[in-house]
Amino acid sequence: MNASELFKLEGQIALVTGSAQGLGREIAVGLAQSGCSLVLADVVDPAETARQVAEIGSRSISVKADVSDEAQIKNMVEKAISEYKKVDILVNNAGISQLSFTATEDLPVEEWDKILDVNLRGTFLCCKHVGKQMIASGGGSIINISSTAGITGVVRAPAYCASKAGTILLTKSLAIEWARYHIRVNAIAPHYLETELTKGLRASEKVYDSLVKQIPMRRFAKPAEIVGTVLHLSAPASSYITGTVNVVDGGYLAQ
Ligand code: NAD
Repeated sequence: MNASELFKLEGQIALVTGSAQGLGREIAVGLAQSGCSLVLADVVDPAETARQVAEIGSRSISVKADVSDEAQIKNMVEKAISEYKKVDILVNNAGISQLSFTATEDLPVEEWDKILDVNLRGTFLCCKHVGKQMIASGGGSIINISSTAGITGVVRAPAYCASKAGTILLTKSLAIEWARYHIRVNAIAPHYLETELTKGLRASEKVYDSLVKQIPMRRFAKPAEIVGTVLHLSAPASSYITGTVNVVDGGYLAQ
């Protein structure tokens, strides 16, 4: 392949969950700028993302779907297939953080269940139903958004960490199961990003400073700094890469 083709994504169909804001919006816009048509999925209306994609001149459909609900995910995939006939790229980005940061000995089981339902069960359900379509259409690339919190522990965030660690092993298991169908499955592990999800952490200067001090680059990432890795994992440039965890963390895990 000519090197100029390595990052070509024109004409590909990409489905991004949790694309109404934050990292999901940034990824959807980045894929649209690269020539993809989009399926924008979220529990809330991703109207602003759809507007930005239209401004770029790319096509999109919006689907309201809670990733933890199998019926809604089946419906999401049906809508995607009826619009575009196939999905080439799936980005499992929808996620929620630890809700209360309460001591684990007092953590309500409902909070544990909610986080595991969205972050892990949701990723599994989207992989299952989009994966079935990718098998039928001859392949694709699945990118699961994990976290550095899926690799190292975080105090008072056991459910979030477990959900993100589970996402990594789900990624590896599917990579080896679906390689024969030409489906590549990879994970991305960002460290802290400047999004709504970390608004609470950034609101307190003391908390923010203590977190930033632990990062060699001494700052949180902009969501746009994750997009290049998504494009790489979507494109022909990564045709022999599957089952990997791509850490994007300002050097945090290198210490
Ligand atoms: P965010 O809160 O800004 O956006 C999350 C999006 O997911 C929202 O649009 C929300 O409506 C949607 N969503 C939530 N629950 C959903 C559900 N059940 N079904 C469908 N959509 C749902 O968060 P973000 O910072 O953009 O995070 C995106 C991903 O990146 C998450 O998986 C998160 O765990 C991961 N991540 C974030 C950070 C960080 O510091 N922000 C770090 C590492 C990994």
